[in-house]
Amino acid sequence: MTAQLLDGIALSKKLRARLSHRVEVLTRQGTRPGLAVVLIGDHPASQIYVRNKVKACADVGIHSEMRQLPASTPETELLAQIARLNADRSIHGILVQMPLPEQIDPARVIEAIALEKDVDGFHTLSAGALVTGRIVDSVVDSAGGSAGFGFRPCTPYGVMAMLDDANVPIAGAHAVVIGRSNTVGKPMALMLLARNATVTICHSATRDLANFVRQADIVVAAVGRAHTVTGEMVKANAVVIDVGINRNAEGKLVGDVDFDDARKLASWITPVPGGVGPMTITMLLTNTVVAAERAASAVSAVPSLKTSAHR
Ligand code: NAP
Repeated sequence: MTAQLLDGIALSKKLRARLSHRVEVLTRQGTRPGLAVVLIGDHPASQIYVRNKVKACADVGIHSEMRQLPASTPETELLAQIARLNADRSIHGILVQMPLPEQIDPARVIEAIALEKDVDGFHTLSAGALVTGRIVDSVVDSAGGSAGFGFRPCTPYGVMAMLDDANVPIAGAHAVVIGRSNTVGKPMALMLLARNATVTICHSATRDLANFVRQADIVVAAVGRAHTVTGEMVKANAVVIDVGINRNAEGKLVGDVDFDDARKLASWITPVPGGVGPMTITMLLTNTVVAAERAASAVSAVPSLKTSAHR
């Protein structure tokens, strides 16, 4: 059998068309969603990422502003820039492109972004909201009050959208997530857990990775090392999600999974490129639109005490 492709480009196109409509409605009502992208230094890959994000905003009608600062920018100056963007009512999302020059503490920068503009979903309070199940998609809850605050990190959020679009059963499935970064692996595991998967998290100290991957109905590889998941590790009919981005010896872009071999066994598989990558940007756009919708409906970003959530 040959796995079906989870096509991130096609799904992004579909989701971005829906987002365009939401942007149009909001703009007509007087709130044009706005994203500020801050780039420090001239890291070539970061410049490409930022350009792609700005272009994607334009494609769906989101207003975007790029602030480029020199690599020598002191942390205080970047924090002052973020404070100005926090106060700017035309900006609903703020993204500071990582990595940052060494004189700047990324944690301090992330925490300086107002929670209601944390569209990357990296703020500690967004992470807490994900752990406690406080992030929801609708703006107003059934009682007419505040529903949800904080944002999901874009890459794992995009993976969930791909699984849902393909109607992959998640509840009761054994999901094995390889990698435990705050931006991909950990939030991925939490999102799968919230949907009632049984989740195993593997990392660099995991003994016998193959033994875990062989048991997985869903495997998500987020390591940054080619050949981490080989064909012989993949259970028949498993769903294989490859988040990794690596360059092979010929300079070609490859993921963490041996695609050609894994494809023979899996039921669904993401290609690299063209899988998770485009979805990450699509979910950034989604979070920015949600941020603008929350602002437009004047929903407080502060958690309401009457809302309770157990996951
Ligand atoms: P990261 O912060 O470097 O985390 C890598 C994780 O992999 C760590 O948890 C590490 O374990 C684990 N790991 C390393 N070697 C391992 C091994 N031999 N076996 C099992 N686990 C191992 O990277 P990241 O930011 O999460 O990104 C992961 C990959 O996804 C990278 O290739 C990145 O470029 C890519 N990425 C893609 C997108 C996209 O849009 N497609 C977005 C974000 C990231 P320890 O915690 O024990 O060190």
